[in-house]
Amino acid sequence: MQLSRQISGIHASGPDGWDAFRRARAMARAGEPVIELTIGEHDIRTDPQILDAMHRAALAGATGYPAIPGILPLREAVAARVSERTGVPTGVENVLIVPGGQAGLFAAHHAVCDPGDKALICDPYYATYPGTVRAVGGRPVAVPCRPGNGFRPDPADILARASGARSLLINSPNNPTGVIYDRATLDGIAGAVREADLWLISDEVYDTQVWEGRHLSPRALPDMAERTIVIGSMSKSHAMTGSRIGWVVAPEPVIAAMDALATNTTYGVAGFVQVAALFALSLGAGFEAEIAEPFRRRRALARALLEAQNVVRLIPSGGAMYLMLDIRATGLDGNAFADALLEAEKIGVMPGESFGQAAAGHIRVALTVADDRFTDALSRLLAFAARLAAAPEARTARLKRVE
Ligand code: PMP
Repeated sequence: MQLSRQISGIHASGPDGWDAFRRARAMARAGEPVIELTIGEHDIRTDPQILDAMHRAALAGATGYPAIPGILPLREAVAARVSERTGVPTGVENVLIVPGGQAGLFAAHHAVCDPGDKALICDPYYATYPGTVRAVGGRPVAVPCRPGNGFRPDPADILARASGARSLLINSPNNPTGVIYDRATLDGIAGAVREADLWLISDEVYDTQVWEGRHLSPRALPDMAERTIVIGSMSKSHAMTGSRIGWVVAPEPVIAAMDALATNTTYGVAGFVQVAALFALSLGAGFEAEIAEPFRRRRALARALLEAQNVVRLIPSGGAMYLMLDIRATGLDGNAFADALLEAEKIGVMPGESFGQAAAGHIRVALTVADDRFTDALSRLLAFAARLAAAPEARTARLKRVE
């Protein structure tokens, strides 16, 4: 029996970007001492006080079908948080509670793209972005964010691809690069999307992981609230990846349309998870800073190690739980380097090529293991890169073995 083109087309042919993660995970499962610096999962679990709130809510009866746009107090809390942090007046009618940022990304593209429409995504991108666009029948079109431009999009590159497009998806603080878009970058993006009459889908799931500079939501820029759909999540901010809880903030008609989508797909988010999320939000910015702190610390450790050598270059960045490293001086591309590093040093990293074309020759390192293991892994990674850069014959031998 034949499957629909829409669902069969979600995965483009060839690798889907997660190969390096799967290989490292398989080796770890087989008992090898692998240090996984691959995916964006905290090395702590959800705080017990949040789990207690979830448990209490379930025992108190929040186990029936949930309210679909989300329970009112949670929507109110999200609206208040967004109003306070961005200055944009936001009411419950602007908020839909969804099972994680990923569901929000899907709903946003479903809301604005018809089958066959182009949806622009900034490259490098979080690995699910192209599949999310294809899942709604859209055609993902990459806007290159070049290393020479600090991995920021150039408005001219957006406009050059805008004909026939419905939306542009941006992500700041950025996965995989860690780059935070400053005001000038966001003004340029806003100008381009207004000129081309595009929706702006702004993935802000890393908004609490800011190490340098300031997170600015493009929804707060002049005339942008009416065309901006913001994706928020508690996965990263509250270490609640497994609870599947996030939100979409958008103009009221968009939220109303997405309510209908949710009724016919997810049928909402478990009530006890929503109550726990409300409790977690009540812990405030101090709690969020505590969750982010280990990444800030490890980033500082990494910077000290990186400054002491000159083979691997750190991409200047200000946020998110990752570092993007330029490893071109080793003579390998990101895929070959990640393969060779896993084989030789049992350290898993993500090749830049997993996130599109623009980050080829780079690797993404997640700041997600304990400080001592992280320092050990990064030191060995840098020594490995130095050996490759110093001895081209070692590189050739390694490439042969990897093939
Ligand atoms: N956007 C980005 C940029 C991400 O990195 C992730 C998860 N790694 C998500 C969205 C999805 O997060 P979740 O569905 O867990 O909220």
